[in-house]
Order: sequence, then structure tokens, then C-alpha cells
Amino acid sequence: MRPFEELLKYSSSIHGHLCAGQVLGVRMAMVGCREVGIEEPRGSKKILVFVEIDRCATDAIQAVTGCSLGKRTLKFFDYGKMAATFVNLETQKAVRVLARDEARLTAAAHANGCSSEQAAQKEAYTVMPEGALFEIQPVQVQIADEDMPGARGARQTCARCGEGINFRRGQEINGETLCIPCARGGYLSPSRDEKPASSPPKSVLIVGTKKSGKTTLIEKLVPELSARGYRVGTVKHHHSSSPLDVDRAGKDSWRHRQAGARAVALVSPTELAVFQNTDEPAPLDQIIKTLNNLDLVLVEGFRATAKPRIEVGKFTTPASLANAAEHLLAVASSPIIDRGVPYYDPAEIRRLADLIEERVLGRPASPLPTQPPASK
Ligand SMILES: [Zn+2]
Ligand SMILES: [Zn+2]
Repeated sequence: MRPFEELLKYSSSIHGHLCAGQVLGVRMAMVGCREVGIEEPRGSKKILVFVEIDRCATDAIQAVTGCSLGKRTLKFFDYGKMAATFVNLETQKAVRVLARDEARLTAAAHANGCSSEQAAQKEAYTVMPEGALFEIQPVQVQIADEDMPGARGARQTCARCGEGINFRRGQEINGETLCIPCARGGYLSPSRDEKPASSPPKSVLIVGTKKSGKTTLIEKLVPELSARGYRVGTVKHHHSSSPLDVDRAGKDSWRHRQAGARAVALVSPTELAVFQNTDEPAPLDQIIKTLNNLDLVLVEGFRATAKPRIEVGKFTTPASLANAAEHLLAVASSPIIDRGVPYYDPAEIRRLADLIEERVLGRPASPLPTQPPASK
């Protein structure tokens, strides 16, 4: 480890000034590294530090240890405490170093001859014996695999905002994976110009084998639900590996894509079509999120997605789907198939729409008919 004076000079240059926090942080880091047996922390792959405050001393700890948020070797917990825990990842030895509150009082008493409280603290923290400055406590730290510096893992997608989540930070809430801000509230407040974040539209899958009548059912459900005041959209899964032929060869939008544009928006005063290249099939929730101002999305296909569904014909939801039975709302078939859920003749579109209202859109069952005004 380089000498104290040299480390202090280095950390102050990174931090921007030489302050009492630099003195304290440099000493904390030196003590912590020594206690866990790390002779030279910078460049070492063995060290990880948990800091409990974001203050001047935090920068000093970062400068001395070389740990950083970006390298995932510095973990920040916003406890507002002047403390840090140093971990030797090789030996699992860990110590928590806490700056003693008494040290502040001692520093104040040191003020004679100093120009300011800051100057007194700076001087006192430099000369005070270690035991008077810090409480050093051996501790045990459990570090989850996903919190280790080199962790890799599958990304999750938040079911509400559709944003990707790394390092398994998704929260399982009522069978859905949500990001932390969607699950617990985040730091952003809705802007005044914006409506409060409206929740994404509800969705229901219409699944069935080829030519089982999925499209016909959707064709009937859309006007029925629209007539009840819902803004309804649809998503259609295109099974073939052949490219979508919506923008045909020769059209301008096609030429834009041929030129290499990864996304092309075709805009008219009343319509918008977006053609977008995706590197992998886009998750359904992400697609639904791009559909604006809707209450309900009827999805044809995507049968492997864990969402409420209506099976058309003799189709059976794959048992491999988690909670397959729970997702099945109804069967629409003629002749009727009893699968232990409500079943409908596809012609009974109003009853099927009632079910979607109750189970997916959350409208109470059988609303009271509006009473004609009582005649006087
Ligand atoms: Zn400072
Ligand atoms: Zn989210």
C-alpha cells in the first residue's frame, strides 16, 4: 500500500479538493484493506467494498481501493452512516469500519489555532490514533452470485413498463415480474404535463390451431367490446420465417429499409405504421407497450406467454406453461368441449365479451341495468 500522504494527494485530486472527508476516507480504506489482508487493493480482483454513505469519504475509499460502481466492486447502500465494509473475496474475510461519532467532538476540541472547523477536522483526523477514529468490527457478508463483479445472467422484462432488467432485480408480484420502481415506486415523479403514468392495456390471448377460427372470433370481439366503450387493439403473431410483406417491394418505405434503416415509420394524418427490425422476437409485453391509448389488446397467438387466454376449437394450452390451468379463461368451440372452464359457442359473442369484461378488464359482473327515471 502506498503511504498515507501519497494516497491523500491522489484521492484529493480525483475528488476535487483536500477536505476532512478525504483524510477520513483514505484512513478508513487503508484500515479496511489491511484488516482483510489486501496489501495492494488497486488492480486487485479480490476486493469489494460496501459503502453506507455518499459523501467526500466515499470518493476517497474509491480512490484508494480502485473499487467502483461500474466495476461492480463498490456497493452503495444509502444508510447515511459514515461506515464501509471491506471484503476479501478470496478469503471471505470482511470488516466493517465505522467512523466514531466521538471523533467529531475530539476534532472540534482540536480547533485551537485552526482557521475553521473543517481545518480542525482535517488536522485531527490526520493525527488521531486509529482506535479513537474508528470502530473496526469483523463481519460476515453473503454476496449473491448476481452481485458478484463478473455476474452474467438472463435479462428479465418488467411486465408493467416493459423495460429490461439486469442482475435478477425483478420482483415477483402476483405472478408477474416487475422492475423495482414499478413494484415499490421509484425516484421519478410524474411530470406536470404528463398524465399520471397510465397502466398498459390489459390483454387476452386467443389461441388455437390453424384455421380454428381465432381471427373470426377476434373480428367479432373487437366491435362488441368497442361498442361497450373500450379502446381495443390487436396483435397478430406471424409464424412464417418469411419477412413481413406489409411494405412491399418497390414502395418508398421498403426502399428505406433496403438502404439499411433498422426502423421506418410511415405516417399519414390519421395513421401510423412502424416497421422495425428486431434481433430476437420481441416479448409480448414490450409490443403491447408500444400500442398507445388502449384498454384491451386481443392477441392472436403467443400461446407460450403466461397470460389469460381463450382457447378456440380443440386447442390445448401446453402443460409446460406455468399455471396453465389458471390462465385458461374459457373455451370457445362448436361443438362444445368441457374443460372445466366456461365454454361458449363462438356465436355467443356477447357472453364471451361479458367474461372478458369481468375477468380481464375488471368490470364487476352483471352491472345493474340503468333504471329509467321514475315517473312522477
Ligand atoms: Zn470533500
Ligand atoms: Zn417496470
